[in-house]
Amino acid sequence: MTITAGGCHCNATRFELAHAPAEVTSCNCSICAKRGALWAYYQPSEVTFTRHEADSTYQWGARMCTFHFCPQCGCSTYNETPSWTEKGPDPDHPLIAINARLIDDFDPDAVPVRKVDGKNQW
Ligand SMILES: [Zn+2]
Repeated sequence: MTITAGGCHCNATRFELAHAPAEVTSCNCSICAKRGALWAYYQPSEVTFTRHEADSTYQWGARMCTFHFCPQCGCSTYNETPSWTEKGPDPDHPLIAINARLIDDFDPDAVPVRKVDGKNQW
């Protein structure tokens, strides 16, 4: 079985995923556009942090999401987010959005890119 793993540039954060992403999400909201991340969404039980030695967080606006980044190498690592329904955010069902660009040996061009219009949705 292939283990899907990844980490930031300096490897202060390393993670293993239950499976490789079937798609990635590109969002044009104010922070995602600046970060340039491609998000892969997982249930919290599907993500194991095998190394978590340096971590900083950033919140903004309504503070519903917590953006994690590495204070050593600057990579945007992951995002703790509520799941989203037609009625809006559902904080009872949190998700982890992994920055798919950090996944080892993963080609984001090989999977569909879901475009989210965060700029106009929140
Ligand atoms: Zn790092």
